[in-house]
Amino acid sequence: MIRVVTEWRARVLQRRYVFLRTDLTNYIDGMATASASHTRDELVAELQADIKQLARKRNAVILAHNYERPEVQDVADFVGDSLGLSREAAKTSAAVIVFCGVHFMAETAAILSPTKTVLLPDLAAGCSLASTIDAKQLIAWKAEHPGAVVVSYVNTTAEVKAESDYCCTSGNAVEVINSIAADKQILFLPDMFLGAHVRRMTKRENILVWMGECHVHAGIDPENIRLQRQLHPNAEFLIHPECGCSTSVLEAMSAGDIDADGVQILSTEGMIKRPALSDADEFIVATEVGILHRLRRENPSKRFHAANERASCAYMKVTTLPKVRTALERLQHHITVPSATADRARRAIERMVAIGGNAKQPLSPIPDGVDPGE
Ligand code: SF4
Repeated sequence: MIRVVTEWRARVLQRRYVFLRTDLTNYIDGMATASASHTRDELVAELQADIKQLARKRNAVILAHNYERPEVQDVADFVGDSLGLSREAAKTSAAVIVFCGVHFMAETAAILSPTKTVLLPDLAAGCSLASTIDAKQLIAWKAEHPGAVVVSYVNTTAEVKAESDYCCTSGNAVEVINSIAADKQILFLPDMFLGAHVRRMTKRENILVWMGECHVHAGIDPENIRLQRQLHPNAEFLIHPECGCSTSVLEAMSAGDIDADGVQILSTEGMIKRPALSDADEFIVATEVGILHRLRRENPSKRFHAANERASCAYMKVTTLPKVRTALERLQHHITVPSATADRARRAIERMVAIGGNAKQPLSPIPDGVDPGE
């Protein structure tokens, strides 16, 4: 008995030592090499079991974005895009929502579910696109263009949403713009690629576009896409315009810089189902690489190639299993939005849902069988 306890304590001490000398992000990988008695898979399974148990105790639901680490996606009750996660957050009966995604998404969940406790496991989970504009900058921009209508992509903070007339997703941006009187000037933010795309699609000259961009998109450029299509000539080409990382591909396609032949523009669910419906055996996927985990898991007989393997969102990857466990243990970090801000932001979000949030509106006239994104 004493020997068992001693071995157990030695293992705990060894884990603590590893924990101290590696940061949380590298914790699991560090353990895999440092512990002779635990493989990485065993440690992941142990953490996932702890998290499941704590979630039951806290009456919590775990939501994970498609771009999260595979082991985080695997412990979640629901995996999806930002709008899908918000909808799950709004309808869950759980008291606590552990939001494994980025900060603006957790804020949107808090706005749509004001009575629930929304937790973000790591406050460093930001968004390079959302941070290109704050409420002060938007107020100043509005002052320069009195009477203009403000349309904000969902990748914005709650404060920016509160200063906006409409929110939109990449899936309904064109439809939202078309619902606004043709003579009204529009301020579109913060994604310059989505802005250029909607200007081209709606043929409106009176859209001013904020020059914001997501750092991940740089890896998914027309050059990389051409190269991958040459390397895999029989592969179907799938675009998932969920986040700022792939709106640049939409823009390049509507500008004619990417050959639209054989392209499928798909929502998350459309993308996950597409391989089973297609005769193709391989697919090139233009989006953040996190979605490849689910595609491969749910379609084991097919092959998937990232448009660029390095197109990875570092903000999504800061959430690790130890941080999810700590979030549940300590009920941290509680994301709240002041009610006055939430009420104004909710109005813009609800308008987005009312105008085609569920409609099947093509993003572009290019491919047949288009699924409109979120
Ligand atoms: S992929 Fe880009 S737009 Fe999406 S959360 Fe990351 S930084 Fe933001």
